[in-house]
Amino acid sequence: MEQPKLPLAPVAQARAAERATSLADHLDRRHRGQTALELIDASVRHLFRNRIAMVSSFGADSSVLLHLVAQVDPSTPVIFIDTEQLFEETLAYRDDLVARLGLTDVRSHRPRPERLKRLDPENFLWQSDPDLCCRIRKVEPLADALRDFPAWVSGRKRFQNAVRAALPAFEADGPRIKVNPLADWTAKDIEAYRIEHGLPEHPLVKFGYLSVGCAPCTSRVKPGEDPRAGRWRGREKTECGIHLPGLMTTESHGSGI
Ligand code: SF4
Repeated sequence: MEQPKLPLAPVAQARAAERATSLADHLDRRHRGQTALELIDASVRHLFRNRIAMVSSFGADSSVLLHLVAQVDPSTPVIFIDTEQLFEETLAYRDDLVARLGLTDVRSHRPRPERLKRLDPENFLWQSDPDLCCRIRKVEPLADALRDFPAWVSGRKRFQNAVRAALPAFEADGPRIKVNPLADWTAKDIEAYRIEHGLPEHPLVKFGYLSVGCAPCTSRVKPGEDPRAGRWRGREKTECGIHLPGLMTTESHGSGI
């Protein structure tokens, strides 16, 4: 009996995702045991030369990965998603780090105005539907920004929460490869590196914000709490969606919303 055929686009997407999964597994095995700097060097200068971007929120511990990337190549594209709901301190911190580290290709992306006008005209969607808010303010702009990049560098760490506990150095993200050079770094490693290299702290850390996202969805973390406990406090939500499967197949006009 003839098997029903899937539409071409989903089939092509599925194949691309399979290829990315195989490649990520291979790279993870081949580069196991390398330092963060070695992983970045291999990814930026060899594996994905001119085809890789770093994504940074310029949040509480972003300075370390930015410093490492700047050592390898300060002209590496750095994508920053300005959700238009960020703390002023984060924007100032971004400008400070860009100047200090000599980063020459930082690209700030914002949500599409027509999406905000239609779905969040009062800037209050975060309260009624935070998943949709993250989708139009973070996920879609990032998917647009990464359209020409088959690989990207992320600053996630295993210690950050239980969801990230099994994070590999290379992982498939739809058809793309995501590189996590700091996967096995601890909070102490991050802080020691920051101090050793004289990197400034995000201005809100001293007030107890150990993970800094959008202002309406970020609160202080109490002693002993998970560092990301202050994000979407009181809700089930733990991730904004940019690290969940499906980012790379998301497009503003194809989301059906
Ligand atoms: S973190 Fe909050 S304000 Fe920011 S995009 Fe997500 S729901 Fe909206």
